[in-house]
Amino acid sequence: HQEELEQFKTRDAVTVNGTKVTLRANIGLLSDVSIAQQFGAEGVGLYRTELPYMARASFPDRKTQYEIYRRVVEGFPSQSVTVRTLDIGGDKSLPYFDTPRELNPFLGWRSVRVSLDHRDMFRTQIEAILMAATHGNVKLMFPMVTTLDEVLACKMVVAEAKQNLMNEGWTIPDVPLGVMIEVPGAIAMATHFAKEVDFFALGTNDLIQYLLAADRGNSSVSHYYDSLHPAVLAAIAQTVATAKRCGKNLCICGEMASDPASFALLVGLGLREFSVSSPSIFALKALLSKLDIKTLQNVAEQAMAESSGARVRKLISEAFGQVP
Ligand code: PEP
Ligand code: MG
Repeated sequence: HQEELEQFKTRDAVTVNGTKVTLRANIGLLSDVSIAQQFGAEGVGLYRTELPYMARASFPDRKTQYEIYRRVVEGFPSQSVTVRTLDIGGDKSLPYFDTPRELNPFLGWRSVRVSLDHRDMFRTQIEAILMAATHGNVKLMFPMVTTLDEVLACKMVVAEAKQNLMNEGWTIPDVPLGVMIEVPGAIAMATHFAKEVDFFALGTNDLIQYLLAADRGNSSVSHYYDSLHPAVLAAIAQTVATAKRCGKNLCICGEMASDPASFALLVGLGLREFSVSSPSIFALKALLSKLDIKTLQNVAEQAMAESSGARVRKLISEAFGQVP
């Protein structure tokens, strides 16, 4: 079976009738780079930079960060690497960084909120990312934004970082800026964000937990955490429509995109850029190669009218048969 799937490594991800989608990789550690290459990922759609920070005993300095990012970027010479700034707090803490004890960490001081409260650390990270951008095709992305002020503040830090590097003699290329749409409130704000950024990335891992009030790491509510819940599909459809209206690229990088049945549904909902776990890439291409876009769109439309995730799941398995 694996050999059969191997043939998909160098093939495009296309439907029967030629609708092409882009399959990039989600990565965290340097070791993920060769895995992404092995599975023929078309670049990196989500580089979770917190992982190198978590694997250390203290904050890595700018040079150390630059060297790590540079190695990732050089791993994809003809493709883009979307680097996400530090996303700590919630379920991810740094042993050497003082994070307050909070009653609701996922609703608390996490992600870009932490970065904006530690400007020097944030600017240092952005400088390291911009330095790595001189070695390839980098996009820069901010997680968990909910307000326009945050987007503007992030852009200000990018401008400062650029200025610092220019003062040091660096020539920094223009790096596209994007924000993650991973809090329900960000969906309605996307029209405003679109005036300030170049692209969006749907982070369904967080979006689902916030939409359905079900902690993504709490097994006692895992049956409430349902990626095919009609409210989740409606939120995704709304984001797709907004991105299209605003003329912005939209990538989806939550785990659900790596699940073949959900992936098919997402293509039907209009998504064309995906960032997935590398080992899932062959199976996603194999499935897509058997389906046509009209069927996918019809199934997605029917799914949108269903009343539960279970019913959506049933609909998908009836429409696409046994998916891997
Ligand atoms: C997400 O929230 O969907 C996401 C891609 O980011 P993370 O899983 O790192 O929170
Ligand atoms: Mg997230």
